[in-house]
Amino acid sequence: MDIQDTTTPNGSDGDWGLIIRSIDLPFPGRQQNMSRPVSFNDSLVKGDAAFKESALTAQLGFPLKVAPYPSEKGNYYNAIARSIFCEPDPASPNFLWPVGDNMDLGDVVLVRKDGQPISGMQFQALGSFVEKHIIRDCYPYLLGKEQAEVKEERKVQIAAKLTPEAFHTFFEDFRLRQVLKGLVEFRAVKSPVLDTLSKVDPACGHCLVKGKPEKPLFTCAKCKVRSYCGREHQKADWKEHKLVCGME
Ligand SMILES: [Zn+2]
Ligand SMILES: [Zn+2]
Repeated sequence: MDIQDTTTPNGSDGDWGLIIRSIDLPFPGRQQNMSRPVSFNDSLVKGDAAFKESALTAQLGFPLKVAPYPSEKGNYYNAIARSIFCEPDPASPNFLWPVGDNMDLGDVVLVRKDGQPISGMQFQALGSFVEKHIIRDCYPYLLGKEQAEVKEERKVQIAAKLTPEAFHTFFEDFRLRQVLKGLVEFRAVKSPVLDTLSKVDPACGHCLVKGKPEKPLFTCAKCKVRSYCGREHQKADWKEHKLVCGME
C-alpha cells in the first residue's frame, strides 16, 4: 500500500481536507490508497459528512477528524481509514478494533481538528506510519490465536508506538527519506506534532519506545539526532539510518 500525494506542501487556498480512497491495482487483492484535496466549499463534505474525531491521531499528536465520503464503489475495505478510526487505548477491551459501527468505511474525508488546511505531505507520513506500525502489527494481534503471554507482549509493543514521540521520530526519518528519493520539497515540511506540542522528545529509532528516567535514550554519535534505547537497536537500525544520518 502506498499513499499517492496529489496536494501542495501546505495546502492551498480552499483546500481544506483530503479524500482518501483505495483503488484496485491489477494484482489480485492489492489496493493502493490515493488522496486528493477537497475544498471547504464542497457541498458533499459540508452537507453529508458526519465528522468524528480520531482518537488514534489525537494520541499521535496529529489530531484529525474523519467522515465517510460518498463513494461510487459503495462501502468497501479501506485499511488506512479503518485504522485511523481504531481504539488506541491499550486498557480498552476493544484496543485496535474500529470504533463505532463504521466497519466498512470506503472513501473517507479527513480534516485537521484545528481547522487548518491539511498538508498532504504530513498525511503521507501518517499513512506510512499506520501501514508499518499499526496495520502490519495489529492484524496478527487481533486475529492471532497465540498464547495469552505472546498476545500481551505484542500488545505492549504496539501500545508503546502510539505516542507523539513515536510518530514524531517516524516523521523525521520519513521526511529525510523522501528528500533522499529526490522529493526535495519534503525538506521544509514540519512535523505536525510540533503544532500540538512545543517540544517533543525523540523515541528509539528502531522500536519507537520512549526513554525512561532510569534508562534514557542515547543519540547517534554522528548526527546527534537519532536516538536509541540500546546498542542492539542502534545496530539493527544502522543499515537504514546510515543513508540519512547527518542530512538534517
Ligand atoms: Zn529500541
Ligand atoms: Zn545518525
